[in-house]
Amino acid sequence: MNDDTRYRSLCEHLRQTAILESTQATLEWDERTMMPRAAGAYRAEQIGYLAGLIHQRRTAPELGELLERLRESSLAQDPHSAAGCNIHWAWHDYQKQRRLPQRLVEAISKATILGQQAWSQARSNNDFPNFLPHLRTIVELKREQAEALGYEHEPYDALLDQYEPGAKTAEVAEVLSRLRTELVPFVHAITSAKRQAPFEILTRRYPIAAQRAFAIQTTKQMGFDYERGRLDETDHPFCTSLGPHDCRILTRYDEHYFSSAFFGSLHEAGHGMYDQGLPADDFGLPSGSYVSLGIHESQSRLWENSVGRSRPFWKWLYPQAQTAFPAALADVCLDDFHFAVNHVSPSLIRVEADEVTYNLHIVIRFELERELIRGNLQAADLPQAWNDAYEANLGIRPENDAEGVLQDIHWSAGLIGYFPTYTLGNLYAAQFLQTAQHELGDWNGALERGEFSPLLEWLRAQIHRHGRRYRAGELVQRISGRPLESQPLMESLHERFDPLYRL
Ligand code: ZN
Repeated sequence: MNDDTRYRSLCEHLRQTAILESTQATLEWDERTMMPRAAGAYRAEQIGYLAGLIHQRRTAPELGELLERLRESSLAQDPHSAAGCNIHWAWHDYQKQRRLPQRLVEAISKATILGQQAWSQARSNNDFPNFLPHLRTIVELKREQAEALGYEHEPYDALLDQYEPGAKTAEVAEVLSRLRTELVPFVHAITSAKRQAPFEILTRRYPIAAQRAFAIQTTKQMGFDYERGRLDETDHPFCTSLGPHDCRILTRYDEHYFSSAFFGSLHEAGHGMYDQGLPADDFGLPSGSYVSLGIHESQSRLWENSVGRSRPFWKWLYPQAQTAFPAALADVCLDDFHFAVNHVSPSLIRVEADEVTYNLHIVIRFELERELIRGNLQAADLPQAWNDAYEANLGIRPENDAEGVLQDIHWSAGLIGYFPTYTLGNLYAAQFLQTAQHELGDWNGALERGEFSPLLEWLRAQIHRHGRRYRAGELVQRISGRPLESQPLMESLHERFDPLYRL
């Protein structure tokens, strides 16, 4: 077998694994949208069986043999070529899978299934002590996982690397800490401002059928391709791709809150347009896959916030909104509506947080989970540490653990190292956008005319079409000419919120 034949075998292996993975994703999409409740047990069997097959293929010795040979070949020399990228990441992923002993994989899977059940009960009953033994076990297992995976500086690096390949904990900590230093006084200035957002406008009655039509009409005009995707309804919105031409986005509707479905749809459509911009012919290969969770999140935040909450965007869209929701918006002027969708107010629940305070929720979680993994913080002391951190950063203190440490599913599901990718997404988005605005010229004018294709084409050329050829850090450096910084995000927040709150 020569190297070209080996490389074709590698691609074939990865594509076949992707067929199983996308089949699993199809079953999961159905489970979260359409599936009748009684079908749950058999669905778990279907998904479990596929997961076993997928794991076998990802750790197959013949895959390892192919990769051992290909890594030494000339095809692997240029890491930014399609072949170099595919060989590099396939090897990276293969090694990670092989390093985890079967015993540990099964222990984590069991602990997190039980953990999520215990968490869900503990949250309903506001009963942290009942969740504590599960959390202890999960933290122990995640530390073991970090040791098995290996790391350069600290165990948290290994966990972070699963979601944000190549990111280093110390660097992320530095950027987040600088961000916090600027955000805390900024939030304080906003909350003590005389002028406050007319939030009530958003809680009027917005009929659900009209919300659905308006979300589809707007995301279509932004560039989400409905020939290759769908928008449906679910309890916990997400975006998933079931094939190279099949991107599903999901949202949830609240008749008395406009922002939930609308900005949720913009957010998921941002994720979806990234998936739709990846090279379709390379579906299932690293060269056709997304870079990292942080980069994925940068695309959703960019459309949701930087575009979707901007003044020029609403100058274009507001007449259409008034037509869609005449009863709610007939007496509301553009300025008031735009201020309302940019309402800022510290709150206890992350998923309901506004764009400014959101990042503080993330900084708090990142710092706590890093200390848990380092062993400097015991799981039993978490509620106290959580509440103190909320008071110090946001000036509010949870009255109970249900609205404090128990609010997120992540830790019970073993997702430690995941939280920072949300704020990395905001930071990447702001830094990308600064360059885009510079290169695209009349940015505000285009938004006012509802012209989104220049921005989408720019994102396609700079980010989407490269798949995983560049790591997140490389992409930021390549696009903006600088490493990741907190400044672009702070500047974009000041630019939008200073005039609104007259700071
Ligand atoms: Zn997202």
